Amino acid sequence: MSAVTELARPVDDNSRENWDGGANTGHPVRPGELDLSHNVILYLDDISVSFDGFRALNKLSLTIDAGELRCIIGPNGAGKTTMMDVITGKTRPDSGKAYFGQTLDLTRMTEPQIAHAGIGRKFQKPTIFEHHTAFENLELAMKADKRVRRSLFAALSDDERDRIAGVLRRIRLDREADRLAGLLSHGQKQWLEIGMLLMQEPRLLLLDEPVAGMTDDETERTAELFVSLAGSHSLMVVEHDMAFVEALGGKVTVLCEGSVLAEGDLATVQADPRVIEVYLGR
Ligand code: ADP
Ligand code: MG
Repeated sequence: MSAVTELARPVDDNSRENWDGGANTGHPVRPGELDLSHNVILYLDDISVSFDGFRALNKLSLTIDAGELRCIIGPNGAGKTTMMDVITGKTRPDSGKAYFGQTLDLTRMTEPQIAHAGIGRKFQKPTIFEHHTAFENLELAMKADKRVRRSLFAALSDDERDRIAGVLRRIRLDREADRLAGLLSHGQKQWLEIGMLLMQEPRLLLLDEPVAGMTDDETERTAELFVSLAGSHSLMVVEHDMAFVEALGGKVTVLCEGSVLAEGDLATVQADPRVIEVYLGR
């Protein structure tokens, strides 16, 4: 049976709570669930995508480990957003492999199936509910979670309140819980949207230019948030702000013309003559 057919089956509500992806205890991994047995959460191999003959991705290969915080940099048009579109099922590659863990073939899953399997994506423009409070936004995100079949009107349990409070603390909005989201600062809105993603307990977070438009202070706090999420989550962060990339401290992948140009710690890739050329050659 294919991963797609398996995923179409309902997943029981508690199944994700006590489950370690088979990484540590040798638990058998249920069909349709994330298998991290080789410590790899994302595996892209030889991915190509063309738009009207133009190669946006050109034999792109990239691997992200479980718990890793990876930064993706590269000039405009390098294919960074297209890569995220492939990972989330929005764009189908013309060729190549894309796996979530060992077994989930992303090229054969729909966008909702991929989200359900544990990949959360934050777009540049926040999609929060401005006329609801920060708390209610997280509540709505939790209740909209397809894995949890419950009514939008059902009262919250104590556990659910605690979960929301925990996420509010994590995104530094605990003191803004009762504020209308529309009244939050730009940076706070971005954090709220990250909180909405976290309510769905994603294993891999894709963040496209998350600190664009933020103040320096908000940017610094966002770096701290991402560093704190790494380990229990894997993150792929596309960003132009080099101070932010440096603060994240993870491995950096440089994309150029649809493939990987260089990879390593920030200082190493910044010293790479090929990287200097694509940035200076613009
Ligand atoms: P980046 O995010 O690195 O700036 P993108 O992935 O957005 O780059 O774009 C890569 C290239 O693919 C660009 O030249 C862009 O114009 C092109 N492209 C992206 N999406 C589409 C699309 N849907 N149709 C046509 N061309 C596209
Ligand atoms: Mg982009």
